[in-house]
Amino acid sequence: MTTTLQSPLSFGDVELREMTETRRDLHAHPELAFEEVRTAGVVAERLRALGLDVRTGVGKTGVLATVKGARPGPTVLLRADMDALPIQEENTVPYRSQTAGKMHACGHDCHTSALLGVARRLAGDAAKLKGAVRLAFQPAEEIGGGADAMIEDGALAEPRPAAAFGMHVWQTLDLGKVGITPGPFMAAVDEFTVTITGKGAHAAMPHLGADPVVCLAHVVTALQTIASRGVDPLLEVVVSVTQLRAGSAFNIIPESAWLNGTVRVFDPETWRGLPTRFETIVHGVASALGCRAQVDYRRHNRPTVNDAAMCAIARAAAVEVVGERNVVASVRTMGGEDFSAFLNQVPGCFIAVGSRNQARGLTWDHHHPRFDVDEECLGIGAEILLRTARRFLEAGA
Ligand SMILES: [Zn+2]
Ligand SMILES: [Zn+2]
Repeated sequence: MTTTLQSPLSFGDVELREMTETRRDLHAHPELAFEEVRTAGVVAERLRALGLDVRTGVGKTGVLATVKGARPGPTVLLRADMDALPIQEENTVPYRSQTAGKMHACGHDCHTSALLGVARRLAGDAAKLKGAVRLAFQPAEEIGGGADAMIEDGALAEPRPAAAFGMHVWQTLDLGKVGITPGPFMAAVDEFTVTITGKGAHAAMPHLGADPVVCLAHVVTALQTIASRGVDPLLEVVVSVTQLRAGSAFNIIPESAWLNGTVRVFDPETWRGLPTRFETIVHGVASALGCRAQVDYRRHNRPTVNDAAMCAIARAAAVEVVGERNVVASVRTMGGEDFSAFLNQVPGCFIAVGSRNQARGLTWDHHHPRFDVDEECLGIGAEILLRTARRFLEAGA
């Protein structure tokens, strides 16, 4: 141990080593969204070995299992995501990705192995457990849709979980720190695509056409007013136009132009009003410049909003593990997370587990080809999830 934990972990060396080995095995064999066949196989095999009833193929490639306690009580859901990213790994560690172009660059290998560690402990102590713990190993977080697919396929079926908890390793937090942020924690993720249709013309005779390029430029600028003029300045909103396409030659005004980008927002109320605001601006600008616009506005993730009461439970568990001064409430990001789909239906808390270690050079951010974590975060994350679930169940009716 290099960190100074508040209390020693309840996980023993054998269990911690198993979590690390599992993480390295998954890291070496990354699978993309909805293709997590090997990963789900490893998970299912390990859960069956614990004597648990296991359902595979949930939401395509997800796995569900329940640990039933000997004493009656509520059900709590713990979730880990399993998918990797289409990135070529640049690390040279022995457990680096063995699949070209695919990499666990977000740490979902850590979440899966930590939750397997929790499962092992829960199954071993089921005689003492009150209520039940449903374990959800989820596909396809990175492209969105994995959580919804599992929910549609019964992840929240009766007995309905009364709460949901999950963790994410966190590279902007040092190892030994934990982020538990009540309220909006991660942003909603929307994607927009706009096609502007004008009237093509010779570049020297713009008055004979309707220029979609000029129109597109005005749309890009006008869209920034969503954040700068349309929303309370105290509420965070980001509008990023990230792709533009138009034209084929220097002397031709094209017939159409295209853009694509994303909106990120925390506040659920503001989020709900965004599509209307977006369409009004785009159609208004297009019409003023003699063009037509077609808007495709898609929702990816809802805002990830932590429940205050559930945060208090997770916080108490985290304080036991890393100490009061190492639990912070200020971690927020405009990045998105599809655990929001669970939190949209049941109260819960998504916990950020510090995984950065400057001294060991483990500082690369999520989705970077050199991303890697200090694996000591596995035991810390598992311990907090375990203690959070137990605290919730013991407090429940
Ligand atoms: Zn990610
Ligand atoms: Zn992630």
